[in-house]
Amino acid sequence: MISSFCFGTMHANQNYGPATTLSAEDLTTQILEGRRAALARAITLVESTKPDHRAKANALLDSLYHATGKSVRIGVTGLPGVGKSSFVDQFGANLLEEGHSVAVLAIDPSSQRTGGSILGDKTRMQRLAVHMNAFVRPSPSGKTLGGVARATRETMLLCEAAGFDVVIVETVGVGQSESAVAGMVDFFLALLLPGAGDELQGIKKGLIEMADMIAINKADSDLERQASRTAADYNAALHILSRGSENWTPRSVAISARENKGLAEIWAAVQQHKTILQKSGEFDAKRRQQAITWMHDLIEQQLRQRVLGNPEMLRTIASAENDVRNGTIAPGAAADQIIALAAT
Ligand code: GDP
Repeated sequence: MISSFCFGTMHANQNYGPATTLSAEDLTTQILEGRRAALARAITLVESTKPDHRAKANALLDSLYHATGKSVRIGVTGLPGVGKSSFVDQFGANLLEEGHSVAVLAIDPSSQRTGGSILGDKTRMQRLAVHMNAFVRPSPSGKTLGGVARATRETMLLCEAAGFDVVIVETVGVGQSESAVAGMVDFFLALLLPGAGDELQGIKKGLIEMADMIAINKADSDLERQASRTAADYNAALHILSRGSENWTPRSVAISARENKGLAEIWAAVQQHKTILQKSGEFDAKRRQQAITWMHDLIEQQLRQRVLGNPEMLRTIASAENDVRNGTIAPGAAADQIIALAAT
């Protein structure tokens, strides 16, 4: 259980001191005690790409691993303006009222391009931002989606070790970030706007196939009927699309984050999904497969870092680029030479 003594509003830019000042052992103990300052330091550590920080982060995550995995992991995606923050704020508030503790993390590809983040602003979730059993963490900024996804996955584990029993990972519905989130959660929710019709054609088919549930938000005032029609259209579409799970049929519902309508139904679906998948063994199998995919991602990232982080390699690659441009060597042969050098 999280000790309420340690809780309070946390700001992204609040300075908790250097991530390296506490040993991995001390951080482990304090995170297991639910101490928020230690959690914040540990997150800073896992977001760092410095080699000594990475080594310490890996030691910390390894020692906390036994205490992870106990939360319900929910992914939420949708385009800007669909109502993600309104939804997560209200949904999270409902869960807090039921006695849960809720961590909200974000993966925002825009933070890679601009250094800023559409999902980072804490004022977006006013109820959660001030609640002592909630924790809102903006997207880490990073150069690659892979790096941002790694930090978010590791932050999720830290939050679980600190005792949060619901983790929500939010992303904007662009690029590959949706697959990254779907690959780290148990239940993936897509938020859409009313008024599908032609738009239904335009929605990425892959997104619909990834979703365990589709919620048409803003089903209130003028848009209520349209939202119900849209939800029905998606229900029809969901029946013909292939499913990610043999044991779960995704469905579509009309909701209003603003009026807190349909949100209880979503939480009921999350729980039902977990029970059904646990019974069939699919829940554990999915988590194990996610862990294996995660390990492969890390291997790939570290190999890439080893090659691209080495100045001599970069010089060799630049010169190979020239040769390929001039047509003096075939791309495959140039790649072979570079890989042979990397292996030495
Ligand atoms: P995000 O960009 O996806 O995080 O969307 P926001 O939560 O910031 O919401 C975008 C706009 O839609 C804001 O003006 C919200 O007040 C509004 N909004 C969000 N949810 C609802 C809803 O359920 N009904 C209505 N009518 N407006 C909503």
